[in-house]
Amino acid sequence: MNHKKTPKNRNPLDLADIDDCLSEEEKAVRSSVRGLLSQHVDPYVGEWFENGELPGVRDLAKKFGEMGLLGMHLEGYGCAGMSAVDYGLACMELEASDSGIRSLVSVQGSLAMFGIWRWGTEEHKQQWLPQMATGEAIGCFGLTEPDHGSDPSGMRTFAKKNGGDWVLNGRKMWITNSPIADVAVVWAQTQESGNDSNGIRGFCVPTDTPGFAAPEITRKGSLRASSTGEIVLDDVRLPENAVFPEAHGLKGPLSCLNEARYGILWGTMGAARSAYQTALEYAGQREQFGRPISGFQLIQAKLANMVVEITLGTLLALHLGRRKDTVGLRPEQVSIGKVNNVAKALQVCRDARTILGGNGISYEFPIMRHMANLESVLTYEGTTEMHTLMIGEAVTGQAAFR
Ligand SMILES: Cc1cc2nc3c(=O)[nH]c(=O)nc-3n(C[C@H](O)[C@H](O)[C@H](O)COP(=O)(O)OP(=O)(O)OC[C@H]3O[C@@H](n4cnc5c(N)ncnc54)[C@H](O)[C@@H]3O)c2cc1C
Repeated sequence: MNHKKTPKNRNPLDLADIDDCLSEEEKAVRSSVRGLLSQHVDPYVGEWFENGELPGVRDLAKKFGEMGLLGMHLEGYGCAGMSAVDYGLACMELEASDSGIRSLVSVQGSLAMFGIWRWGTEEHKQQWLPQMATGEAIGCFGLTEPDHGSDPSGMRTFAKKNGGDWVLNGRKMWITNSPIADVAVVWAQTQESGNDSNGIRGFCVPTDTPGFAAPEITRKGSLRASSTGEIVLDDVRLPENAVFPEAHGLKGPLSCLNEARYGILWGTMGAARSAYQTALEYAGQREQFGRPISGFQLIQAKLANMVVEITLGTLLALHLGRRKDTVGLRPEQVSIGKVNNVAKALQVCRDARTILGGNGISYEFPIMRHMANLESVLTYEGTTEMHTLMIGEAVTGQAAFR
């Protein structure tokens, strides 16, 4: 009996044939995004990362806009109105290229555009969403502060009522896209009169308003092909209607973060796939002890583990995507996806790195870049510890945050 199986029809990047769970339209979305990235991002992104810059980011944003990638899961105002699964598949391809490129699209669509779409006035939506969907305007989302990250409830950015206007003062830290943004969604403690806080509210802030500055944060070891900055608000005077009318407290920013976290749980599987594919190809060509290293059991164990984790993480992403498209997601369900998929993507990258031996640390290959990027992804949009506590609260009914 011949036990040797033919590799015909077997895709080592999708051993479980998850593609069979996708519609032809979904596969078409994925392949158009891949085509765009192969042409306009993949040949250059390694150099952008090494140089710590994203030159031509506005042209890139317009290309993404032409394809309908910006705010692609939102309805109306020039947005593509596609499904959560379509959006997830796009995030996976974007992050297979680079987490910084996925961050550009996530922050634009899921944080800034979603914030305006969900909480803004009709005027905010008409003014900003169509030009953000085409990539002509870039947005950012300012929640984190130098002294308030995981616990934003104590934020020290204040919006004080002055006559009919709001006057904003404070500082935001680690804000993706802020140095290049045209509009910022800024969350602040409000003071209607006196010094007592009237709660956290969101503001739509054109970045050319006097008193607004967004210095770039340099010397990053991660997400280097992404623009990250501060937001400094120094007596930024805004009209009364700059405030989001119905977002009171942290439910406003948290609703936006939930959207962006959903993109992350797909995206990380893209970074993992890229690292695994690199390791698989390398192992098939690299010979030691007179044979390709892919024939050694210890190498195969690593490759097998990678493909198992990518399969499980992708299935989880698809399951959550299908639920988001039908019944919706609860926050702890998104936390399960983020906690698992970021950790597993990092592990896949670490194992892939070892398969390349010394070459594994070289920027000739994308693995170290993905690994460094994933360290930011582990931390932003809620750290792994915060998401673990959310899952803990969901299963025990007890909050252990403080
Ligand atoms: C590249 C990059 C881009 C970013 N982009 C944005 C953006 O666009 N907009 C934005 O608003 N923010 C952004 N962030 C900020 C990010 O969301 C915060 O860094 C994150 O929320 C963590 O906050 P922190 O850095 O202040 O860490 P801290 O909150 O100080 O946490 C430090 C450590 O303590 C742990 N910790 C804190 N509290 C507890 C607890 N109760 N129990 C156990 N452990 C705890 C944390 O998990 C972490 O490990 C970005 C960050 C990075 C690195």
